Amino acid sequence: GPTLVWLRDDLRLADNPALTAAVSRGHGVVVVFVLDDESPGIRPIGSASRWWLHHSLAALDASLDGMLVLRRGPAERVIPALVDELGATAVYWNRRYSAAREIDARIKTSLRDAGVEVESFQANLLFEPWTVQTGDGGPYKVFTPFWRACLERGGVREPLGVPDLGAVLGAPGSESLDGWGLLPTTPDWAGGLRDTWTPGERGAHDRLDAFMGGALSRYHRRDEPAVEATSRLSPHLRFGEVSPFQVWDRVHGVSANSAKFLSEVGWREFSWHILFHWPRLATENFRPAFDAFGWGHPGDEVLAAWRHGRTGIPLVDAGMRELWHTGYMHNRVRMVVASFLIKNLLVDWRVGEEWFWDTLVDADEANNPASWQWVAGSGADAAPYFRVFNPELQAKKFDPDAEYIRRWVPEYGTPDYPDPIVDLARSRQEALDAYEAVKAAA
Ligand code: FAD
Repeated sequence: GPTLVWLRDDLRLADNPALTAAVSRGHGVVVVFVLDDESPGIRPIGSASRWWLHHSLAALDASLDGMLVLRRGPAERVIPALVDELGATAVYWNRRYSAAREIDARIKTSLRDAGVEVESFQANLLFEPWTVQTGDGGPYKVFTPFWRACLERGGVREPLGVPDLGAVLGAPGSESLDGWGLLPTTPDWAGGLRDTWTPGERGAHDRLDAFMGGALSRYHRRDEPAVEATSRLSPHLRFGEVSPFQVWDRVHGVSANSAKFLSEVGWREFSWHILFHWPRLATENFRPAFDAFGWGHPGDEVLAAWRHGRTGIPLVDAGMRELWHTGYMHNRVRMVVASFLIKNLLVDWRVGEEWFWDTLVDADEANNPASWQWVAGSGADAAPYFRVFNPELQAKKFDPDAEYIRRWVPEYGTPDYPDPIVDLARSRQEALDAYEAVKAAA
C-alpha cells in the first residue's frame, strides 16, 4: 500500500525528509494536512496565522498539482481513518516538539500495533532538544552555553532536494480549503498582510534570495527598525516553508554577518529547547517566583490603546500599528512594546503574548512565550526585571530621524497625536516596587 505523509509545520517539498523517504519507499505517496484545533496539547492558531496557513496550503496544493489531501478533526481519529481508507502500509512525518508530540507518540503506537510502519524524521530544528545537554545531562537554561554546545556538536546536514513527485497520488474525499473558513471575511482585515507577504515555499525562497543579495550585508544594523536589515523569514520558518537546514546552508560562512544571523536562528532553537522541556511555557512563569507578582488591572481602555497603537508613546504606537497592518513587528520594537505593556502598564505578560499570538503571522509556540517571558524577566535566560526599556531613549537611539515612527504614525507631531496614557518615569518606579515582592520570594 501507499505511504501517507502527514505534514504539519513543514509545508514544503524541498528538504522534507518524510516526503523524500516516502517517495523512495516506492509504493505511491499520499500527502495530507490535518486541521486540528481540538486535540489536547494543540494550541489553536491565531487569526493572522490562519490567514497565512490558508495561502501556504493553497501554494502547496498547487505545487502538488492539486493532490494535497485536506482533513479536519482530531488527528488521532483522522490519521488512522485515512490509513484504513487508503490501505496505507506506512505513515511518515517530520517531528514536532511541543506538547502535541504526545499525540504523535500515541498514533505511532496504535498504528504500529496494527502492523503499519511509522517513521518520524528531523526536519524543523538543527539540534533536537534531547541531543544537546549540559554537563549534568539536563536541559540548558542559558542561551550562550546552549548555542556554544550546539556549534561544537555541529553536524548540520546538507538540505535535501525536491523528490520525484510522480509518486504522489491524490485521494478521494479531500475537504475544501475555502470551506475551512481560515480567511477573514467581515471585515476583511488582511489587505496589509497581502501587500506584505507571499506565503508558500516559492515566497520563502524569494525572501531568502533577497536577504542573501541585500539585507544580510546590513545585518549589523538589525536594531534599526527603519532599515531593511533582517531576513523577515520568521513566518516562513514558522510554517516550515523553508527549513533551518536550507537557511544554514545558504548563510554559513558567506558574510561577516553570518555568525550573528545564525545565532538568532539559534535563539529559535533555544526557545524550542525550552518549550520541549517546559511545555507550559505559554501559560506558566518559567521562574515560579513571578507567581507572586502583583500585576495591575488597567482596564479595557488602556489595553485597547496598547493594542491599537494609541498610547501616545510614538515608538510603541508605531510598532503596534505595524503589527496590526502587516502581521509583523521589528524585533527591537517588539521588545519595546512588550516592556511598555509589562513594566509601564503593569499588565501580565500573558495578555500581551495572547495578542501577539492572534495578530502575528510568525506567531510561534516557542518563540512567542519565550520572548515574552524574556522581557518580563520571568523566563529562562531573561532580561533582568529591573531593566526597563525607555521607549523615548530607544527611539532616539534606533530611530533617530523618526523615520519608522512617521511611517506608521503619520499624525506624529501634530495636535491629533494623543498625550501619553501613562507617566513613563512614575510607572517605571511602580513596576520596580512591585518587583521587590518577587525578589523577596525568589
Ligand atoms: P532575523 O533577525 O532575520 O532572524 C532570523 C530568524 O531567527 C527569524 O526568522 C527567527 O526564526 C529567528 N529569530 C530571530 N530573533 C529571534 C529571537 N529573539 N527569538 C527567537 N527566534 C529568533 N519570533 C517568532 O518567530 N515568532 C514569535 O511569535 C515571536 N514573538 C516574539 C515576541 C516578543 C515579545 C519578542 C521580543 C520577540 C519575538 N520573536 C518572535 C522574536 C523576533 O522578534 C522575530 O523572530 C524576528 O523579529 C523575526 O524577524 P526576522 O525574520 O527578520 O529576523
